[in-house]
Amino acid sequence: MNAHSKIAFSRQPTDRPVAADVRAGLLQDPGFGKVFTDHMVTIRWSQARGWHDGMIGARAPVQLDPAAAVLHYGQEIFEGLKAYNRADGSIALFRAEQNARRFNASAARMAMPELPETTFLQAVDELVKIDSAWIPKGDGALYLRPFMFATEAFLGVRPSHEYLFMVIASSVGSYFKGGEKPVTVWLSDRYTRAAEGGTGAAKCGGNYAASLLAQAEAIENGCDQVVFLDAAEHRWVEELGGMNIFFVMSDGSLLTPPLGTILPGITRDSILTLARKEGRTVREERYPIEQWRADAASGKLKEAFACGTAAVVASIGKIKSGKGDIVMGDGATGPVTAAIKARLVGIQRGDVADEFGWVRRIG
Ligand SMILES: *Cc1c(COP(=O)(O)O)cnc(C)c1O
Repeated sequence: MNAHSKIAFSRQPTDRPVAADVRAGLLQDPGFGKVFTDHMVTIRWSQARGWHDGMIGARAPVQLDPAAAVLHYGQEIFEGLKAYNRADGSIALFRAEQNARRFNASAARMAMPELPETTFLQAVDELVKIDSAWIPKGDGALYLRPFMFATEAFLGVRPSHEYLFMVIASSVGSYFKGGEKPVTVWLSDRYTRAAEGGTGAAKCGGNYAASLLAQAEAIENGCDQVVFLDAAEHRWVEELGGMNIFFVMSDGSLLTPPLGTILPGITRDSILTLARKEGRTVREERYPIEQWRADAASGKLKEAFACGTAAVVASIGKIKSGKGDIVMGDGATGPVTAAIKARLVGIQRGDVADEFGWVRRIG
């Protein structure tokens, strides 16, 4: 199977879609990741047949053998992207081809088969089209979750010989319960999420499993999220459990940790591209935690924000840790963070010119 071959999809729309009035009720205040649409995409892979049995059908539970490799050894990867309703009535995806590419980079790291990028994009487009009534009006979006996992019934330890690729969709509003309020982040000085040579740059469920205890600690300490330091020295700021991090200095420059053990965020890349374009100095450099404390105290560091598809840009008001808190500026969302968020959301929604060709209409 080469990278350009197309997989045929069979279409079996559900005969029991959620009633329009029930759907309208669910879309009032969907929250994040709990309202699901009527359909899903499934494509199977086996060593003998490659990708086959592409289908778009009713959303339903998946049957798995209890010995399915994913349940024992966690061979699983995923993506996350959004479809937006735009002011002109069209539906658009933001840089979806980057998700397709990153999905295959994750697959390669986890010893899984690559999915032709055209198939990934076709699967996403078809699901958005069939479930377009589930895209909330206004600020919400349809969050798409492509994922793949090992289905072979085999307890020996080696890459599985069978996989299932799926796409599901969830109607979403704001990622954080507090809406636009700055978030408070817990600094984990005990747990790390990724080490050199590990899977930090792959979007795999295992990274999230390893982050949950630190995330629970964050919540116990009254925080929304956790920020991790590097595994070797426990000194260099890496990223949050599911978002990259940026710092805004008093000279207006941006600083963000370099790629390597962190997830190469598409939002991160978009912010770097936009900032460079507007003539801002941007540095992809390691930033030590003691410098973060000192710069926040001296006023050299003005703002910090987290970024990712789900929340887009979330201002960080305060860091809490066992060794004392760090407050950014006056704890409110800063002007640079607000401007970056407005520009990015504006491009996604069609209110700001899309100079980089990041937005693709699908209907
Ligand atoms: C998905 C993810 C991000 C953000 O990536 P985007 O492409 O911007 O959504 C950041 N960190 C981790 C660990 C992630 O899994």
